[in-house]
Amino acid sequence: MSYDTNNIFAKILRGEIPCHKVYEDEHTLAFMDVMPQADGHTLVIPKAPSRNLLDADPAALGALMATVQKVARATRQAFGAEGVLIQQFNEPAAGQTVFHLHVHILPRSTGVALKPHSGKMADHALLAQHAEKIRHALEA
Ligand code: AMP
Repeated sequence: MSYDTNNIFAKILRGEIPCHKVYEDEHTLAFMDVMPQADGHTLVIPKAPSRNLLDADPAALGALMATVQKVARATRQAFGAEGVLIQQFNEPAAGQTVFHLHVHILPRSTGVALKPHSGKMADHALLAQHAEKIRHALEA
């Protein structure tokens, strides 16, 4: 399986389609998932192209996980969550639908059920508001 440069996250990285950005550095980008399974559901991607974890350059993973940790902490704080679920899918059989490596960050609290994976498109004004909350927590 090869990397398709026209996948939707590659287009986001090239600025061809918009996203609700929460964080960016030299190696990574974090933005709101448009079909969130929980309030604050964020995705972190490496800028280096890879289809998923299986074909990724190990050298890119340190920066990716450092951003995952940073954004997970901010997301937990921004949403007052008790915990944070980290998910990452590899190939369709494992639930992957977008073929550029990405890590899901899902704030969790007791008694709050997760919505379905790739379920319903969220309101963009709400996503913008959630991104702002996370950016604010990142600055704190
Ligand atoms: P998966 O490949 O199964 O790990 O999930 C891909 C995720 O990307 C799903 O949770 C989708 O809701 C999300 N998604 C798809 N298109 C976009 C987009 N344009 N911007 C942000 N998130 C997206």
